[in-house]
Amino acid sequence: MPDYPSLTEIDWLDQGAQHMQTATMRQHKKPLYRSVNTRTHGVRHGSGSKSKWERNTKAAAKNQSKNQSMHSGQRHGFDYTPLFKFLLSRVGKNWDEVRSEAVSRLDHEEPISWLVASDLSDGSSFVRIGESSYFSGLYVDDDNKLAVVDVELTPDNMRPFCACCTHTLNGVRLTTPYSDESA
Ligand SMILES: [Zn+2]
Repeated sequence: MPDYPSLTEIDWLDQGAQHMQTATMRQHKKPLYRSVNTRTHGVRHGSGSKSKWERNTKAAAKNQSKNQSMHSGQRHGFDYTPLFKFLLSRVGKNWDEVRSEAVSRLDHEEPISWLVASDLSDGSSFVRIGESSYFSGLYVDDDNKLAVVDVELTPDNMRPFCACCTHTLNGVRLTTPYSDESA
């Protein structure tokens, strides 16, 4: 047995992926949001780090000044994490198609604009949802394709804003520990 996949195996894997995709498309489309019964972002920050936290929060808010509604990513009692993951998975695809599918699976369109800017100059490198969940900011590029604002930003180089929360980027936990040093 060779320790690399044979052409036949690669072919099979490709076909498997295609079949899965086709099957997914045929399925009844699941909503891109879910209702939440409890406040999951009610984490209290240690009072000792409050001023630092507030400064960092302001800096983060400045970064996303055009997306103020972001701070209430769970309002109406809904969690739009499935939408954000859907959008991230469609980077590089035609925006009209992505948007119309997203709209068909949402209760209202507004959460799309939390993550997706109409062009790069309006985009943010990241968007905060709730207390400590971040998602990569997206925008619609000149070819009308969905694109990432800051392709360099990863869970490995993003800095957390406080010590008391578990921060995530695109659902993946940040690996850099919190530091008092301001960057
Ligand atoms: Zn915290």
